[in-house]
Amino acid sequence: MSLPENQGFNTRAVHAGQAFEPRTGAVVPPLHFSSTYAQDGIGGLRAGYEYGRGGNPTRDALQEQLAALERGTHAYSFSSGLAAEDSLIRALTRPGDHIVLGNDAYGGTYRLISRVLGDWGIGNTPVDMANLDAVRQAVEANNTRLLWVETPSNPMMKITDIAALAEIAHGAGILLVVDNTFASPYLQTPLDLGADVVVHSTTKYIGGHSDVVGGALVVKDAELAEKIGFVQFAVGAVSGPMDAFLTTRGLKTLGVRMDRHSDNGQAVAEWLLGRPEVEAVLYPGLPDHPGHELARKQMRKFGGMVSVQFKGGEAAARKVAESTSVFTLAESLGGIESLMNYPSEMTHASVKGTELAVPVNLLRLSCGIEDAEDLIADLERAFATLR
Ligand SMILES: *Cc1c(COP(=O)(O)O)cnc(C)c1O
Repeated sequence: MSLPENQGFNTRAVHAGQAFEPRTGAVVPPLHFSSTYAQDGIGGLRAGYEYGRGGNPTRDALQEQLAALERGTHAYSFSSGLAAEDSLIRALTRPGDHIVLGNDAYGGTYRLISRVLGDWGIGNTPVDMANLDAVRQAVEANNTRLLWVETPSNPMMKITDIAALAEIAHGAGILLVVDNTFASPYLQTPLDLGADVVVHSTTKYIGGHSDVVGGALVVKDAELAEKIGFVQFAVGAVSGPMDAFLTTRGLKTLGVRMDRHSDNGQAVAEWLLGRPEVEAVLYPGLPDHPGHELARKQMRKFGGMVSVQFKGGEAAARKVAESTSVFTLAESLGGIESLMNYPSEMTHASVKGTELAVPVNLLRLSCGIEDAEDLIADLERAFATLR
């Protein structure tokens, strides 16, 4: 079933790539586990399927759904967000090339670029993406191939102007990559703002239920698509059928989940703002957040991620992190259940001591879809342990 171009996000989320199965009429497309496909004579493929690394109907259904939601033409699904990033960088760079990335990039992204791909001859310069002159200079001073940004960023919640970065990248003849994991395509579609590639850890909001690890790349250019598709096939870091199925199932409800995540994020951020124990609340939905106006322009809502810094320093942050019961102390984010993370020792431990290091008095909250009053009551109880 081909869908009209102009359908709304939620309609595309439910239907893109999800036509019923023609033989039985099964409304949910079947999960295809087969690793190989019978040929009607040598080379006689039935629906283009030959071998599971090269193509699988369940993975294709997810890829079609992802492309429709990110407003791209092609999407590629991988076994993790970092597998997607690795395949992207290997598809688009060669030894001697350079990547300019945000100085608050996800720790794992920086680790991949600096400690794995660095040894294969890929250079990098982390810069403050809010400082457009610094970005331009870093791009020009190096043999830069990719400009890489996360917005909102993890965990500092900085907002970067995607359209302005696209202009810088294209002025220099290079590509803009946006890691859209925090916003998800419901809140923000970077390809519409000029980005060339969207990266996702689908482990987070897209899967949405903390039960599957995965990653994705989405593009709107046939030549780029071919390069990425070749590496996906030739390297083989693909998502398995069960992972693809779970991710598709999560993606169908992304819009309704993001509305609730955003409402809860806003409620929690506003509550934190009024607390005497708090030094700073980092949430783009607050009017005094430095990226608030920009976020209003390029995002539909502000999402469920809230970072908070404590006046009581590291000790206070650690105490609160270990005192909640609705918020679970765990890595990751974007699931229906609320999670609390102490980035300095958990998600971002790998960038400790580098210029990407995270403040030690900071906690990152992933607000789930529970009732906001219960999230706030949980924080209230945890804050009471500070007295
Ligand atoms: C988690 C995450 C990644 C890495 O994805 P994995 O699925 O864990 O490999 C990349 N970028 C961001 C912003 C993330 O939060």
